[in-house]
Amino acid sequence: MRFAGKTAIVTGGASGIGAAFVRRFVAEGGSVMIAELDVERAAALAAELGERVAYELVDVADAEAFAPLADKTARRFGGIDILFNNAGIGNFGLTPDMDIEQWRRCIAVNLDAVFYACRAVIPHLKARGGGAIVNTASASGMAADYGFTAYNAAKAGVINYTRCLAIDHARDNIRANSICPGPVDTPLLTSGVDEIEGLRAEWERIVPAGRFARPEEIAAVALFLASDDASGMTGATVPVDGGLTAH
Ligand code: NAD
Repeated sequence: MRFAGKTAIVTGGASGIGAAFVRRFVAEGGSVMIAELDVERAAALAAELGERVAYELVDVADAEAFAPLADKTARRFGGIDILFNNAGIGNFGLTPDMDIEQWRRCIAVNLDAVFYACRAVIPHLKARGGGAIVNTASASGMAADYGFTAYNAAKAGVINYTRCLAIDHARDNIRANSICPGPVDTPLLTSGVDEIEGLRAEWERIVPAGRFARPEEIAAVALFLASDDASGMTGATVPVDGGLTAH
């Protein structure tokens, strides 16, 4: 029961890694506010897990959305202890062909949103005497993937912004760490990969572990970083990638 009495905001908490985090966070005693575009899936998860899960329709790329969400979360659950910035979208396209709106949207959802959320939530963490921020970056933020232009740039930004948060707020007793998944079996990845014949097998070959991760394996590391077990860790970039970035 590592999270008894604790409250987390989880962006993108209705699917994949976020949903795996929400399930275990609640099982270990915590309360969660899910910030989601997909409110139908969020509602289904909340109905399944009970009254310690709430959800709001939020586009994380909306700069104005997070302050009201943070206030609402604090009113409903009594405060905020943990922020899991996890919502994300992919992108594919080489630079000369890249639509400018597609670039902007990818940077907005994957990077700008992390800043908006932290800006709104850090005062709430301070009010509790400290807290933890976990940001989902990617192995694609540590080394580039072919054609993932805006995604690679955004996730690298998340890694270094997380380090900055860690330094700036260490004396506030706020820890900030990022996780870097390799390929994970979630809709975000598989919807694109499984459309291209042979691509899954090729990626499985490239990952030393020989397989995609399960969302629960990524969530387990995020939960560790969010918990007091990681009280000595801040500013870390943690690969959870089956050895991909060890090459
Ligand atoms: P997923 O598609 O299963 O879940 C992402 C969730 O984010 C969805 O429920 C979606 O509705 C939500 N979301 C998307 N845009 C949003 C927005 N603007 N506002 C609010 N919610 C929004 O994908 P996942 O694989 O679980 O992705 C979670 C994170 O993990 C993302 O940041 C992704 O970049 C990162 N990641 C995934 C992989 C992978 O292989 N799946 C690898 C590395 C990093």
